[in-house]
Amino acid sequence: MHRQRCTRIIATLGPASSDVETIKKLSDAGADVFRLNMSHGTHRDIGLIHSAIREVESDTGRAIGILADLQGPKLRVGVFDGDKVELAQGQEFTLDMDEKPGTQKRVCLPHPEIYQAVEKGTDLLLDDGKIRLSIKKVEDGRIITTVAVGGVISNRKGVNVPNAILPMAALTVKDKKDLDFVLNLGVDWVGLSFVQRPEDVQEAKDIVGEQAKVLAKLEKPAALYALDEIIALSDAVMVARGDMGVELPMEEVPAKQKKIIRHARRAGKPVVVATQMMESMILSPVPTRAEVSDVANAVFDGTDAIMLSAETAAGQYPVEAVSHMDRIAQTVEREPSYRKAQNTEETLREATSADALSAAAKQIAATLEAAVIVTYTTSGSTAIRAARERPKTSLLVLTPNQSTARRLTIVWGLNCVHTEDATNFQDMIDKACQISVKYKFAAMKDRIVITAGMPFGTPGKTNVIRIARIQSYHEE
Ligand code: PGA
Ligand code: MN
Repeated sequence: MHRQRCTRIIATLGPASSDVETIKKLSDAGADVFRLNMSHGTHRDIGLIHSAIREVESDTGRAIGILADLQGPKLRVGVFDGDKVELAQGQEFTLDMDEKPGTQKRVCLPHPEIYQAVEKGTDLLLDDGKIRLSIKKVEDGRIITTVAVGGVISNRKGVNVPNAILPMAALTVKDKKDLDFVLNLGVDWVGLSFVQRPEDVQEAKDIVGEQAKVLAKLEKPAALYALDEIIALSDAVMVARGDMGVELPMEEVPAKQKKIIRHARRAGKPVVVATQMMESMILSPVPTRAEVSDVANAVFDGTDAIMLSAETAAGQYPVEAVSHMDRIAQTVEREPSYRKAQNTEETLREATSADALSAAAKQIAATLEAAVIVTYTTSGSTAIRAARERPKTSLLVLTPNQSTARRLTIVWGLNCVHTEDATNFQDMIDKACQISVKYKFAAMKDRIVITAGMPFGTPGKTNVIRIARIQSYHEE
């Protein structure tokens, strides 16, 4: 049950990994959270994967998080006569609202919002940035461009408009349907793609309410201008390096990754590093040395979670990809320099009892060389503050809410056990000792540090810290 690793692993599920057996293997190999990519698959497919994950969860007895990742306002061109055309550098190419199949001269771009948001000089990137169109003129319902970088373009390829804030809703009609579907299904996290403004996050949160937590994917330059406001409104953020590397010059992505992690950690919001971490493992059983370094560096930066996309969804070695990530993260976390890097982060605590007690618990546990810090939490917010301190001591979270246990699987260092709330002070100590021993966080004579909120049984503020010693009667 106890992971030997604080950094969490998110694995995207897809055709290569949607059966119970593979999901079980991925979970055993180290996947803590599974991602459902709403850009692919029917609701029926998604529903089947969802129930397979829950089956594996009840089998292993460890909470598993589910992240439903909405497609968002991803812009796409229409279709072509003959499915594709080749654009030559220097030629003129027009985008319009006409649904007729495209030719070598024009294609449909069925998003009216773009036409007002762009102007002469704006660049349009097609197919993950492989093709670049430079806008010459925008006139009623048509964008006339010059092909700056040519290539073959086929049906429904994606379009990025890096330097414009598009007046588009963060949730498309498809997203709203998908959201309704996944909320009924019961997911722990909802991912929002192409967030541009803090209002985009608010809009989603208003719909989601208490039903799930909201993760904002940072992949647009506009989102980076409003980084701290977006972090403040979101429950977690993702460094979505795939689209970010198209929207920004890709050499700027590493510095943005470090900046986003720093800001998210300071705010105490979980942060995920995603995309192409083990890309070569789609076809190869071993990663490249550069990929190993990339994963290791994300861990060194102190990210909460690292993510696999096509590697586990469609690759040939999904389980191996998770195993390699697991080993890299464990190895980095054993380095003394990793510990040091976690500590030097500026912590800027909030004036709350949760932050005061989390800081105290970390210090007491270090001074006493306690085996574990046990945190009772209902909503999970105290546990996230405890993780934000990045203590050297293991963190064991006890919660009466199964959804809290599931939601916290994305957070650095939290090991959650779903259990009834303590009934009184002695019960709080006994339970903490028993569960610490049961899951091998502590052994006879070890000291443990407990934080909780009194009175028990009512959600409220953490206001108690207690040091206890494991006595023989706690052993089962
Ligand atoms: P995606 O998001 O895989 O849904 O596009 C991640 C990214 O852009 O990096
Ligand atoms: Mn993306």
